[in-house]
This record gives sequence, structure tokens and C-alpha cells, in this order.
Amino acid sequence: MVGIVLNDNAYEQDIRELLMAFCPGEEIVHEAHPSLRFCVEGILSEDRTEFELCLVFEGGSSFRALAMEALEPEIQAECRAAWESNVLKVNYEDRFETKNQIKRRLYVLLMEQTGKTLPWGTLTGIRPTKIAMTKLAEGDTPEQVFHYMKQTYFTSNEKINLCIEIAQREEKLLSAIDYRNGYSLYIGIPFCPTTCLYCSFTSYPIGRWQGRTGEYFHALFKEMDYVAEKKKGCTLDTVYFGGGTPTSLSPEDLDTLITKLKNTFDFSTVQEFTVEAGRPDSITREKLEVLKKHGVTRISINPQTMKQETLKIIGRRHTVEDVKDRFHMARELGFDNINMDLIIGLPEEDLDDVRSTMEQVKELGPDSLTVHSLAIKRAARLNTMKEVYKDLKITNTQEMIDLTAEYARDMGLEPYYLYRQKNMAGNFENVGYAKPGKACLYNILIMEEKGDILACGAGTTTKITYPDENRLERVENVKDVEQYISRINEMIERKEKLLSKR
Ligand code: SF4
Repeated sequence: MVGIVLNDNAYEQDIRELLMAFCPGEEIVHEAHPSLRFCVEGILSEDRTEFELCLVFEGGSSFRALAMEALEPEIQAECRAAWESNVLKVNYEDRFETKNQIKRRLYVLLMEQTGKTLPWGTLTGIRPTKIAMTKLAEGDTPEQVFHYMKQTYFTSNEKINLCIEIAQREEKLLSAIDYRNGYSLYIGIPFCPTTCLYCSFTSYPIGRWQGRTGEYFHALFKEMDYVAEKKKGCTLDTVYFGGGTPTSLSPEDLDTLITKLKNTFDFSTVQEFTVEAGRPDSITREKLEVLKKHGVTRISINPQTMKQETLKIIGRRHTVEDVKDRFHMARELGFDNINMDLIIGLPEEDLDDVRSTMEQVKELGPDSLTVHSLAIKRAARLNTMKEVYKDLKITNTQEMIDLTAEYARDMGLEPYYLYRQKNMAGNFENVGYAKPGKACLYNILIMEEKGDILACGAGTTTKITYPDENRLERVENVKDVEQYISRINEMIERKEKLLSKR
């Protein structure tokens, strides 16, 4: 248990996020008492020009025991400053600068206390590539971006270089579409065969909705009609079916849904049409044929791991053989852009398991690969039923991440998008790799917050961007399917409010 005690909460969230990155899974309390491992104390002076930051713990400071020469010069300088004084001179109203000052100081204090450094340094946000992309768009050279990220966030060389490489690739890919005037459409299908242990998405076992999907469609089609009417004359760039697992639907339902979609929207400008087939246990030849018939350009078949025992632990009722079988089936039917999702840090997996998964994936040869680090979200069973699963060992290391990157490059896949999540095992990142020409534009658009995303369905989020003001506005649909159906008019009104501001 660790603590945070502040006399002003303006930067509490930033402090808490960095603390969580250093001490994953540890409970954080807002009081100082002797049973704490340590406590972050922050005192803002009355005139708001000084912020005193210290770590209070048993045993006193061991700063000087740090192997300073092994640290990067920027971190060394912050350590020295911390030795001299606990007090930071701040311009408290400059939120960006103050936040970074506090986080840099806290970083060295926590580094000293825990003996850890973080690959992303003080960065706790989910879109680090956006920083590189923005700087490059402003005219900075890659060297300047490198210097900036090092100075400001203490990010490791490897992660900065990865950010810059991805940002440059993304810029090139996005230059092929007019996302400022176009939009993307997301259709949410909130059903899955069963619920995975780590799932925090909007997902209901399809069994419970068998024979009632028409009710969902009734509401969904109403929302799609509204969006199509509202966006008449605008360019539809990409379409993405996610969820849940869209292929949980029957072939007939899939056919009805995509027929409706194509009759409602102008598809002549669509550059990419993705369907998350996702769970291999939801895929059949008939369903793939429906997708093919309707011109779906990209599908996902997600193993998450190629270790049978793990699949059982995480509640996915399919086998490794199912993954291979469905992949070959999709290839036979002519799908030439197949993505596979993997998760690193799954319960009871070690480096050899990751290697074995990568070997098997390499043999299949997908066109793109998304490697996630396990994130234990609040709503996931892995979290809500902590007691039941407490003996499961979760390991995620840089070595594992590096191994997946090595395999990806070996398979001719280049990193093209990256994002981070809160509560990730090992505090790493998710990286999407793709063969040249097979990157998913939708993934880039959503991660870099470029272009509008109009989303229909339970649990989906519509995002409207204001590029000149570097901001976006969003509106969410309710997650519960019954609620979504009964309150569909309200969902449409919410959208109308957002869209009519333009
Ligand atoms: S397949 Fe995805 S959406 Fe469905 S239960 Fe598993 S994690 Fe959740």
C-alpha cells in the first residue's frame, strides 16, 4: 500500500498515474500512516509559486547509492536537483509545464525508492506517438523530437525511436486520405461466444440473444439511417465492425447487416472495410463467404496466444488448431489482409511460451499483427474476481516485447501504430505491425485522433475532431444492449447535439 497526501489536488491524477506505473497493482490511499510502503507528499505554497515534493518512508533516502553513471544525463541532472532541494519553483497556472516538472521530480524519487526505471519515462498517456506526430507536423526534425521527448519525459531511446518511426509512417499513410473532410464509420456488435477473463469491452454471450438479434438490428439500423442522412455528401473513408465479435452473428444476420449498410451509405469512396472476426470459435466458412461477397477488405482472426492451456485459463473456448484452420479457410476464400491479435503477459506464460506463439504465427504469415500487453481493467473478471485468480502468475518483460518485435520484423511487418493503456502489465505498450500496404487506416485515425469517427451500436463512442483547435468532442452510447434498444431515440438525440455544433 502506498499513499498520496497533497494540500492541492490540481495534479493529483498525474501523480497517481505515475505512482501506479511504478507500483502496479498496489493500493493507493490518500492518507499517511505507518503501514504504508511509502507516501508521496506534496505541498503547494500559499502564493502558488513553490511545490515541495517528497517521498516519506521508513529508512531515509538512499539517493546517493544510485549508480549515477548508469543513468542518462537528463535523469542525473534531476537527481542532483532533488538532492539539493525538495522544492520546485513553479508557474502553477501553466498546467503543461508544471505537470511535467512534478512528474520528472517524482520519477527520480520513485526510481530511487523502487530501484526501477520505466521505458516510457514519465509518460502515462495512451497516445505517445501523437507527441512525435505533432512535433514533426510543426516542422521539427526527428533529432529535435528525440531531444524533446528525452528532456521532457525521460523516455528510453528505444521507445522514442519507435515513436518517431511510427509517427513518420503514419503521416505517410494518412496523406493518402482526406480525413479532414471525410469520416469513418464504426459499427459495434456487442456479442461474443463467451466472455474472456480479461475482457472489459461491451460484450454479451450471443447465446442469450439468440433469436433476438432482430431487436438489436432494429435500433442499430435506425441509428445508421440517422448517421447516413447527417453525413450525406461527406466522404466515407473507412468502415470498421468491432465489438464484441461481429462474427458471433449468424451468416444470415451478417448478410442482413452488411446489405443494410451498403444500401444506406455510399461505399464508392471507402478505402478499407474491416470486420473483427476475432474469436476463431465464431468463424465459419459460410460467414467468411458472406464477408467476401460484400467486399470486406480486412479481417482479424485473433488467437491472443497459441498455448492451449492459456486459452482455457482465459475462457476462450477454441483451440490452437481452430485458429490455424480458420486462418487457412480465410486464405482459401481469398482474404489477403488478415490481422492477428496477440496478448503478452497472459496468466502463467513465460518467454518460451511467447516464442512458441510467435513461431506458430510466423508459420501462418498474417498480413498484420497487433501485440498487446495485458491490461487488467477494472471491469474485467481478472480484476473483479481477484481472489479466485490471485494465484495466477502474470509476467510481462521487455524481453518478451522485444521478442515479438523481432519476429514481426522477421515476418516483414513494420510497426505502424502504437497506444498504451492504463493498468498494463509491465507498463509497456500495444503495437500494430503490418506488411507494406496492409496497415489499418482506421486504427491510425482513431489512435492519432484524426478525422471523425461516427459510431453506431451499444457501447460505442462517436468522436468529432476540431483539427484547427487540436481537440475533439465525444458522445457515448449506453453499453447495456436492452437499454440501447429502448433508448435509441435518446442515443440519436445525443449525436444530433454533438453533430449540430459543427
Ligand atoms: S473476444 Fe474480445 S470482446 Fe469478446 S469477450 Fe473476448 S475480449 Fe471481450
